Amino acid sequence: MGKHALLSASSSHRWLNCPPSARLCESYEDKSSEYAAEGTSAHMLCEYKLKVALGIRAKDPTADLSFYNAEMEDCANGYAVYILELVEMAKQSCADPVVLIEQRLDFSKYVEGGFGTGDCLVIADGTLHIVDYKHGQGVLVEVEDNPQMKLYALGALEIFDGIYDIDTVSMTIYQPRRDNVSTYTVFKESLYQWAEEILKPTAELAYAGDGEFNCGEWCQFCKVKHECRARAERNLELARYDFKLPPLLEDDEVEDILGKIDSLISWANDIKNYALQ
Ligand code: SF4
Repeated sequence: MGKHALLSASSSHRWLNCPPSARLCESYEDKSSEYAAEGTSAHMLCEYKLKVALGIRAKDPTADLSFYNAEMEDCANGYAVYILELVEMAKQSCADPVVLIEQRLDFSKYVEGGFGTGDCLVIADGTLHIVDYKHGQGVLVEVEDNPQMKLYALGALEIFDGIYDIDTVSMTIYQPRRDNVSTYTVFKESLYQWAEEILKPTAELAYAGDGEFNCGEWCQFCKVKHECRARAERNLELARYDFKLPPLLEDDEVEDILGKIDSLISWANDIKNYALQ
């Protein structure tokens, strides 16, 4: 995994929702977490297992991995089997599907400096398949309308649309530790429309450091989440309910608070952790 672009695919859910966050996060270092290191090891093992399954020569990375256990081995084996099944399926409509592993995908046509790495692409006439392996289990990754996957898809179309006769793009999140293997399929044209109408203008705002601050569940992945004024103001606005006696709250107020309480707790914990560092 290389150095992250300012507007990376993996952070796109955040900067698409809150464009000014991109420049704000820029001066903060990437803190490598244990989870990230574990994910890197899992990806290396997956890559190796898949290559072997496809008959491609590859060096076994196991001895050099910073993390390795039986669960990771099972996950990587399962991933390789899943891709083989996908390839077999693709062969039903195309005699010579192409399989690409750890493919660099450039979507800079829509997002300044934008690139990422697709774990696996299976390209056949009709459908382009993109599979992303997620080793984490903390957050269930939704595939539907997932911007990271859509950016990868645009990067893949940039290379293969025209060479292959592609109508639809099929995006799959393979997250074995959450029993989550889910696929989202869209027409190529709807991706291009999203890219022109939503992605490109929002990326321009983000690149320029413009746009509106917007809090939401994406804040949990933001490097400035501890100090962000917009997030503090939003949560302090919610916290004002604390000054009312609970019996005086109307049902709709309780409902309103309940809907936001997770975000308040998450923000309060972030502030506490930051202050106690
Ligand atoms: S914490 Fe949330 S609102 Fe603040 S910059 Fe980050 S994403 Fe935007």
